[in-house]
Amino acid sequence: MKLWCMNANLGTVGGGAPMMKHLITSRVLSGSGAVLSYLASLNWIFGISVVIAAAINVMGPDILLVTRNKTYEDLYAVTFHELSHASHFTSIGEWNYGKLIWYEMTHGNNEHLYGVGGTGTEGEGYCEVSETYAFSIENYVRSRVLDNQERMGQSSHYFFGDYVKVLSQLLIDRTLSPNEVFSCLTPDIQSMDSLLEGLCIRYPSKASAIESEMSKYAL
Ligand SMILES: [Zn+2]
Repeated sequence: MKLWCMNANLGTVGGGAPMMKHLITSRVLSGSGAVLSYLASLNWIFGISVVIAAAINVMGPDILLVTRNKTYEDLYAVTFHELSHASHFTSIGEWNYGKLIWYEMTHGNNEHLYGVGGTGTEGEGYCEVSETYAFSIENYVRSRVLDNQERMGQSSHYFFGDYVKVLSQLLIDRTLSPNEVFSCLTPDIQSMDSLLEGLCIRYPSKASAIESEMSKYAL
């Protein structure tokens, strides 16, 4: 796992998890391209392939943390946030995670980091699940490890206000463990509705507690 810390001001961006060192497909494709173009004496393609393969393997970070003007608590919580994305990457695979990254790159802007939602674009559902999971783990860490309740449930992003509150509370109350939530993050889960439903099915003894927390927000 390659982690970069950047002492820069990137507005509201606290970090990112592009998982570049783990992009096996890109590495294999650029590596294969290099071998084939070398064998065919296509020097310029060979050169480009080698540069791309090297950039992905050597230069790209898995996780990026923006450190300027951050307190120790913020850095600690954001690190867990980005590690949550990394764990989502391992469960849905790089192809599906690529859809999430592509959605964020094409729909996010300075005002709305994750777009405005409701577009039905491929990757939007993974974004909803990944960010809700990451913000909930962040809240869990702030509450259980750093003993700070003030930041609970805060989020200006369009789709996960109530879902973050529900999942955060289920984690903080220890109704669900982080590992139990992680085990439900399979490739078919592309909305928070389906994640919560999946958790009820997988852990039937916890279904009533999950539904009770959801009903507080009419979900
Ligand atoms: Zn995030």
